Amino acid sequence: MNLDAMGAHIDRLIADLRVTQFYVADDLHVHWIDDREEAMAITDADPVEIHLPRIRSVLDYATCLHELGHVSGRYQGSKSSKTRERWAWRYAREHALVWTAEMEEDARASMWRPYAAGRSGPPSLPNVSGVCQPSALFVRVPCRGVQ
Ligand SMILES: [Zn+2]
Repeated sequence: MNLDAMGAHIDRLIADLRVTQFYVADDLHVHWIDDREEAMAITDADPVEIHLPRIRSVLDYATCLHELGHVSGRYQGSKSSKTRERWAWRYAREHALVWTAEMEEDARASMWRPYAAGRSGPPSLPNVSGVCQPSALFVRVPCRGVQ
């Protein structure tokens, strides 16, 4: 499986989403970005916005699947960002055409990185359902890094 095939798969999932989950194509805005660390899904907005990394590695592919998981995965209305993250990753695993050990390691690292970095616990932030990772100022910041 090469990167082009992974990109084609993401394109297909997005096309399916537009048909199954949105009334008009314009209700879902897809932004292609260069830095995987800045990927995000803003699902409480109209239009819904997803920022997906251009696929240059299997980790970019996994991140695209993860963000799509925030749009159409289960339990994305949960008040717990951890629950939303976990189930977005589950969507990624279930929909991936390939799921490598490297992808799994990255998924786990994105869930646990702040703890590994020695922080005492998650910051107490307002919990906005549907936003990947709200900050205290409601500025949308990426899924990854802060948990
Ligand atoms: Zn996420």
